Amino acid sequence: MLPITSTSGSLFIVAAPSGAGKSTLVNALLSQEPQIKLSISYTTRPPRPGEQNGREYHFTTPEDFLARKAQGEFLESAEVHGNYYGTSRLQIEKQMRAGTDVLLEIDWQGAQQVRKQFPDAVGIFILPPSIPALEERLKKRGQDEPLIITRRILAAGGEMAHSPEFEYVIINQDFATALSELNAIVKATRCRFTQQSARNSALFAQLGIHANPN
Ligand code: 5GP
Repeated sequence: MLPITSTSGSLFIVAAPSGAGKSTLVNALLSQEPQIKLSISYTTRPPRPGEQNGREYHFTTPEDFLARKAQGEFLESAEVHGNYYGTSRLQIEKQMRAGTDVLLEIDWQGAQQVRKQFPDAVGIFILPPSIPALEERLKKRGQDEPLIITRRILAAGGEMAHSPEFEYVIINQDFATALSELNAIVKATRCRFTQQSARNSALFAQLGIHANPN
């Protein structure tokens, strides 16, 4: 496997327990920052009403998923709430090489695997303002069976216990505030020396700036 040489693109990992409002926040960010590419994961979970194959997820069978996993097709994969989820390696590596910013909406297990391969990945964990707020959001969404909602509520504590592994934490109490915080993290990441110098290599050369002056 060739190493990823482009450093101009950033890799964002966004994780949260179900009901923290992650997808709504990420979708709002992507509409403001359309140059960030959202990775479309593979999953064995059945589609929710309104979800389309290839848009929210690549929906597949456990057999197909496990065959892809055995072929090394996934950058990371995990079992979450009784279903398999995985990120396509090819898709991400292609985009990273092209210098594109990529965002992964994955769980903490996947985040651990990605961090090992991309130590510069920026981890962001979204927290709900309270447990009752989390439960209310999950129930209001109304897209899952009551048993699945209960399972996800019970799993939330274990997931949030992994938030210290993430660089940034956003508390999604007020949506506009949370979105502006997410935006600020994206903007700050783009100003990292490695990203700026890779994007503006001609200017940096002109200004006589080198990555390692020592
Ligand atoms: P949902 O079924 O609600 O869409 O997602 C359930 C959980 O699986 C969420 O925490 C979501 O972030 C996580 N997830 C979605 N795609 C992936 C993936 O490709 N890899 C991993 N590890 N987790 C994922």
